[in-house]
Amino acid sequence: MTVDARGPGLPARIGRLWEFATNLSWTWNREARSVFRAIDPPLWRRSLNNPVALLREVGDARLRALAGDPAFLPRYDALCAAVDAAASRGSTWFQRRYPEFAATPIAYFCAEFALHESIPIYSGGLGVLAGDHLKAASELGVPLVGVGLMYAHGYFDQTLGPDGWQEDADDPLDPQLTPLERLRGADGAPWLTWIQGAGRRIHVGAWRVRVGRVPLYLLDTDLDENDPADRDLSHQLYAGGVDHRLRQEALLGVGGVRVLAALGVEPQAWHANEGHAAFMMVERVRGLIREGLPFPDAVARVRASTAFTTHTPVPAGHDVFSHSQMRDWTGEKFWEEIEARDELLGLGLHPDGEGRDRFNMTAAAIRLSRRVNGVSARHGHVSREIWRGLWDRRPAREVPIGHVTNGVHLETWMNEEIIGLLDACLPPDWRSRPHDEHDGAVWPGARKLPAEALWRVRQRLKLRLLDLMREEARRRWREHWPEAEHLVGAGTLMSPQPLTIGFARRFAAYKRADLVFRDRDRLLALLSDPGRPVQLVFAGKAHPRDEEGKRVLQRVYEHTRDPGFEGRIAFIENYGLHTAHCLVKGVDLWLNLPRVPLEACGTSGMKAALNGVPQLATTDGWWEEGFEGDNGWIIPRAPDGSSEEKVDRHDHEHLFRLLEDEVVPLYYDRPGEGSGDDAPAGWLERARRAIEVAAARFTAGRMVREYVRDYYVPALRGSADGDDPPTSTRSGE
Ligand SMILES: *Cc1c(COP(=O)(O)O)cnc(C)c1O
Repeated sequence: MTVDARGPGLPARIGRLWEFATNLSWTWNREARSVFRAIDPPLWRRSLNNPVALLREVGDARLRALAGDPAFLPRYDALCAAVDAAASRGSTWFQRRYPEFAATPIAYFCAEFALHESIPIYSGGLGVLAGDHLKAASELGVPLVGVGLMYAHGYFDQTLGPDGWQEDADDPLDPQLTPLERLRGADGAPWLTWIQGAGRRIHVGAWRVRVGRVPLYLLDTDLDENDPADRDLSHQLYAGGVDHRLRQEALLGVGGVRVLAALGVEPQAWHANEGHAAFMMVERVRGLIREGLPFPDAVARVRASTAFTTHTPVPAGHDVFSHSQMRDWTGEKFWEEIEARDELLGLGLHPDGEGRDRFNMTAAAIRLSRRVNGVSARHGHVSREIWRGLWDRRPAREVPIGHVTNGVHLETWMNEEIIGLLDACLPPDWRSRPHDEHDGAVWPGARKLPAEALWRVRQRLKLRLLDLMREEARRRWREHWPEAEHLVGAGTLMSPQPLTIGFARRFAAYKRADLVFRDRDRLLALLSDPGRPVQLVFAGKAHPRDEEGKRVLQRVYEHTRDPGFEGRIAFIENYGLHTAHCLVKGVDLWLNLPRVPLEACGTSGMKAALNGVPQLATTDGWWEEGFEGDNGWIIPRAPDGSSEEKVDRHDHEHLFRLLEDEVVPLYYDRPGEGSGDDAPAGWLERARRAIEVAAARFTAGRMVREYVRDYYVPALRGSADGDDPPTSTRSGE
């Protein structure tokens, strides 16, 4: 295997900049970021903080100047020294805890990864979670190997038409402006292996991206060797109909297993993050059968080494394929080779008889995984209810599905200035501690954050969000919408003083972005109180085929242009990692209103909390376990059995009562007003507690340690202790 990665010609004195730019560990290294920024601050901003684009575009003259710049070189040298010191620093958490497995690969499959804005191969929360998982695994020293798809056209770019209807643009990704490196086979061929599809061979190539110590391999079929019909297989994420999805998921699962084999990587534990990756398990069963193992033994072997995480209680979130569709895709020959073909297809049978000729990817993944989990305590409970049919409808509490609550990568999501303030309140080694197991003892120190300094950082972050909105408005003005109302809708009339509420997520109907608009007069009164004004910022994409979601978005958009609201409501287009960073840090309050219990976890509220932005949310996902009374606000649950309309009315009433009676008064309670100190003391109490709770309990470091302890290490040991497989596999039906 060889790697294509030609960088720009850098002067030898600063030659390692390319190495730093092409390993995503820079994204959570403040020193690296500040060195890149110093190369050319405006270009750094314009590239949306993309060091590869920066180094390619900055020009030879500037690079030569930097190589002799007495102000730059010491910073560069310090960065080199820091990187080398980190690489040679003793052992990692994983090496200390599990030395016997320190070099044993663990495969992690996911259909999307969000690592940086410049690699748009994600659509939302699932991708961010997978990206943060790799980052935390790198720091903990977990020998993880990521497998995903290279979407040459990424996920769609969102622009809204003048009527607020979402239009999906599709700009190809230029790998030259990313840290992606193409892998080549031994003879220099751009492909590493092939899979069988549509009755023919499809060559599979791969790109590598380094996430600290963790490699991520992204599969690609856009190769000259392939039939034109197969070249666009991996073009775009979650695009096309159900046939296209089957082909993409076959590429991920089957192609992924084969690419790892071609690279000589031999995982001893396998983790499928969401049902999209279930073919990874099927392919391994098929491989063992071909080696001569009987079907039940092959299933048992795969089960023992596999973990599966389910991510949604929404039925439409689970992929289902018909058997004939699967046979058409692989060609009949594939199945003739497999004697146990009916058993293999039976692995995807839905327990509630959803159709005997259909293959449910989540059901298959559960049957083929010894260890299965949901992503919050509540979602674990909901998943046991949904899937108990696989265990003869036994009571939910006896169903062996657990939970690992999601977390976010602290160094990625916490603002640098807040990290700086924490340096003064926490033990000196706190920044290496999140990777160890003493979080509980460290974090109460966050209560000592000085109010005034924290308030100043919070205000600066809000100004940065307002800057982003103004830049966005400028772009609208220049490029497509030279009408004043669109500029107002982009937030140009917003000011830094008012309490600013953020709501950003996928526009799925159950997330209820439009709940605040149920009573226009009440909202108007809340927003335009002259003494205590409030403003609202929205962002988010609707899935390209979710017409209902697009209609909700359109309604929200109409409100941004309604003169009655005086420009106090804004919508930011094209929600992605960059916007998410500005939003979760820049607003004062984070709002999340999913209809209980449809949100599996939710992670944006954790990101906000790490920056001192408390959350107000329904009793769903992580908030049910994360709300501690004084780190935000919670909407109590509507009485069981209420109709959807009643639940909406109930939640709306509680939302407004909380905003009117608690949130707004607390924000505007300024005890020191007039003395030059306008920090809201009570509000900042909550902000500190938000930081403390999120950092102690909801980081990706904590999450990955739980996966290691309860899922990966038992799988590495091949332990089938206490195995309680779904009854339908046990009987081989
Ligand atoms: C964190 C994040 C999400 C997920 O947020 P939820 O709270 O789970 O809806 C989605 N998109 C982006 C860009 C994010 O950063």
